[in-house]
Amino acid sequence: MKLIFEKSSPGRIGFAVPKTRLSPKKTFVPRESIRPSLGLAEVSEVDVVRHYTKLSTQNYGIDSGFYPLGSCTMKHNPRMNEETAAMDGFAQTHPLQPVELSQGNLELLFALEKILCEICGMKRFSLQPAAGAQGELTGLMIAKAYFKKIGQHRPKVLVTDSSHGTNPASATVCGFEAVEVKSDSRGNVDLEDLKSKASEEVAVLMLTNPNTLGLFDENILEVTRIVHEKGGLVYCDGANMNAIAGKTRPAEAGFDIIHLNLHKTFSTPHGGGGPGAGPVGVVEKLAPFLPLPLVETKGDKFFFDFDRPDSIGKVKGFYGNFGVLVRAYTYIRAHGAEGIRKNSENAVLNANYLLSRLKKDFHLAYDRICMHEFVLSDKNFPNGVTTLDLAKRLLDYGVHAPTIYFPLIVPGAIMVEPTETESKQTLDEFAQVMLRILEEAKNTPEVVKNAPQNTPVGRLDAVKAAREPILRWKP
Ligand SMILES: *Cc1c(COP(=O)(O)O)cnc(C)c1O
Repeated sequence: MKLIFEKSSPGRIGFAVPKTRLSPKKTFVPRESIRPSLGLAEVSEVDVVRHYTKLSTQNYGIDSGFYPLGSCTMKHNPRMNEETAAMDGFAQTHPLQPVELSQGNLELLFALEKILCEICGMKRFSLQPAAGAQGELTGLMIAKAYFKKIGQHRPKVLVTDSSHGTNPASATVCGFEAVEVKSDSRGNVDLEDLKSKASEEVAVLMLTNPNTLGLFDENILEVTRIVHEKGGLVYCDGANMNAIAGKTRPAEAGFDIIHLNLHKTFSTPHGGGGPGAGPVGVVEKLAPFLPLPLVETKGDKFFFDFDRPDSIGKVKGFYGNFGVLVRAYTYIRAHGAEGIRKNSENAVLNANYLLSRLKKDFHLAYDRICMHEFVLSDKNFPNGVTTLDLAKRLLDYGVHAPTIYFPLIVPGAIMVEPTETESKQTLDEFAQVMLRILEEAKNTPEVVKNAPQNTPVGRLDAVKAAREPILRWKP
């Protein structure tokens, strides 16, 4: 597709400033305000409208098709969420407005915190972190402050080998040494390895449950017990709450800290960098360390409580990504407790249905009933076809690729998360496309290796694109 600059034609304009009646040679704009040429494209209004309309159709999003991106929970965002987020009282308030004039907003924050506590079994939540990764950092800062307060020096954080890259990154950024714990042959935490590494030096074990293999840890109570026995805390990366919300509460499994990705489990359109929300919940003994302020009530009034001497302080400007919080609140209230539970059940059902359609033909990394996602691999692909080839070929069929090459413990991983919002028809279509590509890999492998052919751009050099990005047009 041509850039708008390449459509430029000298002298063509979109809008002409009217001449004044008194002095037809002059425009309304005073001479000193007229800027020298900015070198913008010279195009008409219709050129602009067509250009950007066409551009908007080059994108792929959850609103255009199936988006089985594992771990990311690309579920449909109900339009009711957008209605409420756009209500004047929410959209037009300023975060510096006096609290007397934003009581409704504070009430929403207060109520959302209570609901998240109920879903996770935690004592308190901070809604401030802007995303899961920031939630992780916040959670670890809380752990650090806690151990400082009780006078213990614990320099290590354990992360599992199936963890999201943000886990070891957050630990490192927070000044801990990240130590890896292995998974066993069923995809659970390897208890022997955990026992050998859990010590009084360990501040936190970070664990995703269900993990990024889409498997619920069968020994979760034993895992948290081992860490607690040494005085450590257990952190739940709650990115996969979409499988268990309403079914089980992480605090009851022994987790002390959790972040939720509201933009995953509780809808909100995301991708391309946000916005998101990564609230952090903690058990009672850690509540004093949460970021400030928290919303409290006195009588029928809501207020921000800044008087929290042990708090780690603020982690974000103002009070979080408010629009995302409104969407999550709407989503939860619209579904109710029963609906949230059903969504989790259907997410797991959809994933298992898809898995059962694919596992005869694709290599399944861990052969268990899965939760809301599962991980295939390219182990049995014929003719040197790889996971990357499959992902690119899917684009030709108009499907967004699954997450690939993650988790790292499965070589050539293909991580599929259908979510509960997809119909059986959509799942069947996807399964058919996957199987067709496998046929192509057998019979006409070049077609798969040279994919995509039907997309606006072909196969990109991803490394070059990341290292030498060209972000602006130059004449
Ligand atoms: C998405 C995700 C994260 C990071 O969350 P962001 O909101 O993208 O920052 C961390 N862990 C897991 C397992 C995830 O899926």
